[in-house]
Parts: sequence; C-alpha cells; structure tokens
Amino acid sequence: MTLEELTARERELFASRNLRSKELHDAARSSLLAGVPMSWMTMWAGGHPIYAGEARGAHIVDVDGNEYSDLCLGDTGAMAGHRPEPTMRAVAASAGITTMLPTEDAAWVGSELARRFGLPFWQFSLTATDANRWMLRICRHVTARPKVLVFNWCYHGSVDEAFVTLGPDGREHSREGNVGPQVDPAQTTRVAEFNEIESVEAALAHGDMACVLMEPALTNIGIVLPEDGFLARVREACTRTGTLLIIDETHTFSAGPGGCTAAWGLEPDVVTLGKSIGGGVPIGAYGVGAELAQRIAAAEDADLEDTGGVGGTLAGNALSLAAARATLGEVLTDSAFEHMSALRERFVVGVEQAFERFSVPWSIVSLGARAEYRFAPEPPRTGAESAAAGNRDLEEFLHLYLLNRGVLITPFHNMALMCPATTEEDVDRHTEAFNAALEEICE
Ligand code: PMP
Repeated sequence: MTLEELTARERELFASRNLRSKELHDAARSSLLAGVPMSWMTMWAGGHPIYAGEARGAHIVDVDGNEYSDLCLGDTGAMAGHRPEPTMRAVAASAGITTMLPTEDAAWVGSELARRFGLPFWQFSLTATDANRWMLRICRHVTARPKVLVFNWCYHGSVDEAFVTLGPDGREHSREGNVGPQVDPAQTTRVAEFNEIESVEAALAHGDMACVLMEPALTNIGIVLPEDGFLARVREACTRTGTLLIIDETHTFSAGPGGCTAAWGLEPDVVTLGKSIGGGVPIGAYGVGAELAQRIAAAEDADLEDTGGVGGTLAGNALSLAAARATLGEVLTDSAFEHMSALRERFVVGVEQAFERFSVPWSIVSLGARAEYRFAPEPPRTGAESAAAGNRDLEEFLHLYLLNRGVLITPFHNMALMCPATTEEDVDRHTEAFNAALEEICE
C-alpha cells in the first residue's frame, strides 16, 4: 500500500474507534470556534481530537474507552504526570485560590528554583509566554535598548517579538501565518541561526540588542542540540556587548532537575519557565541574577507594580504556588528525573533498533526525559535544517498509527516525553507500534 492508502485506512480505523469523541466534537461546533476550546487542538491527527475521559499518571482513557500510554503529556504541561498525588493533595489543601495575598509557598518555590537554576530572585506568571513577554519588557527597560535576538524557527509562546524567521535572502521576515502583528517584527527583532555563532555575534555587534531569548536546545522545530562551545560563546558575546541572556527552560527542563542550566553549567542572566512546574496547574516563572535584580530595583521609572505592562491579577496566586511546591518538592525530584531519563534511553534504543531493522535513514535526539525522531539521516544542527526535515504526510500517518494503537505523542512533531509514572510497558508499547508502522511503510 502507498502511504496515502495506509493513511486512509488508519483514518477509517480512527473513525471507528472514536465515535463518542466525534459526536462530542460535532456538538461542540455550535459553541466553540472550530469545535475546540483552543484552536491548536485541531492539529491532532484523525480530523478531530479524542476527548479525554480520565487522565492519571502516564495514562489517558478517552470517552470511547480507548486507553493510551501518554508520551505527549500535554506537550510538557504534564511532565509531572496527570493528577500527581502530592499536587492533587496540595491543590485541595491550598489556603485559597486567588486572594491577592502571598502565601508561604511562594518563597519556598522561589528558593527551590534558585537552588535548581542558580538564580536567586524569582517572580511568577500564569504561563511561560507571559514570563517571556514580561522579561523582554524588563530587559528593554533596564538596558534602554530596543531590540531582541531570537533564533530561526524558535518558539517561546505567543510572544510577538519571536515570530520572525530568516528568509532565503538571509533577512528577518514576519513568520508565515503570524496573526495580526502590531508592527512588523523585523523592526523589533534580529534573528540568528542556532549553532552559528557568527550570526549571533554579527547581530549583537549592532549594540542595540536588549537581550537574547533562547532555548538552550531548540525543542519546537524538533530537538536541535547545541554543538560544543556554542552556548559558552553566546554567553561571551552577550557579556561583551552588554546584552542580557534569557534562557527559556520551559521544555528543556526535561534535561534534569535544574534544566540545561544546571546540567550544562550555563550562566544566564534570566531563566524563564512554565508548563510542568505546577504539575499541570497554570504557572510560569522567571528568575534573575543578583545584578539584574539590582538594576530592576533601580529602575524607578518602571511601573512594575500597576499598569506598566508587567503582571497579571491571577499571577502568583495561592493555588498555583501550592501546586508548584508539591510538584517540585515531591514529584519532579532528582530520582524522578533519573527514572525518566532511563526510560527515555529505553525509548531511544527501541527506535534506533527499528531504524536499523527497516534501514530507514532517520535520526533521534534526546534531552533528558525527552526524545524526538526526525526524517533526516543526521540530527539537524540549525532551525532551518530542522524545518526542512519535516514531512507532514509521514507524520500524519505515524501519529494516526500510534493513536490507533494506544500511544499518544505530541501532535506538532515526533516528540515523546517520560513522566515519573511512565513505565517500561508504556515505552515498549510505542516501540512495538513504531516497528509495526515501519514494517507497513517499508513493505
Ligand atoms: N517557551 C517554550 C520553549 C515553549 O515551548 C512554549 C510553548 N510550547 C512556551 C514558552 C509557552 O508556553 P505556554 O504556551 O504555556 O505559555
């Protein structure tokens, strides 16, 4: 069978397995735009998302009774697993939900993040997007410089300044599909290519850059790992040009208890985070070094308290901090990361053996608890290379095939993540289905 025929067959199988989800999706069309609570949910393979019945640990049971090993884990939002018991307990016992008052949990979480990421002072938002947005404002304010540097094909949430890619002419262009930008982001942003230090140095040489906003490894265009010395040279270039360095650890937190910052000994001025630290309860965070904290305190003309553009009513709320304290203290612990990394290794071995067995020229890259396979013989080394390795048709088939056999991976790409509750059986279920899928493609 051709790939098209195989996909058509899998679509039929999906339809027959998901009758109730389809019914609910059709009914939701009368009250929800595109029939979904959030537009990206239309990106699940199969024509409509499956509806969650119950999510617990590393498993989801949908409303049709299908059971899944969940390697998507809410695209990292559920890296602590679904409904982790300590987090659920803390949520039930929280002093309040939103009170506009601090609770003791906030300083506990601040100290714990300081211990893990090496930056002393923290502040909270509800999403990683907001943590990034607010930090960009703060960096521009304290440096009195207008621009930010990001990497080609990066993603940092719905952050206006980050929706810029490099065109074939090597210049910045608004990312394709950018919805209603206030200004052309080429005016606010310079773009460098990951792993190409000259492009970073050239951009910073203009002297108008407030900060670099980067993931220490790209994770949103497939995983692109930094080459030896690249991150150290970015740090040096930032220091030399008075540019602040923001490391976004929202996804790369998968590298270990203190993300890549601790695992690789990075020295950022700022770390931003979100998604998983509240065990799935909305929370974002940003941490700053002592020197930057002083500069922020000295910026008397910055209205950080009221309507200056930083902050949100529900940020720092009691519930999200109670959840974060329990999640960091009892769920995403050092030993949990060891377990998650060991399972990820099992996952990689299974996938690599399948590549070999079926002689497919693909590659797989790991980052602690996370791994991702790509349809390229060598792991891409830049965002542009990684973007070029995408293959929508193949992805649709694989995602559907896995869904139909009880395995969820991240819908936007081929990423699998382990949580503390993931088991060897979950990983092996993927390996078995992946082998079967390759066997069909390669026949
Ligand atoms: N930073 C990174 C690296 C991300 O991948 C994302 C989302 N995928 C965000 C920030 C934004 O997270 P959120 O959508 O939860 O605000």
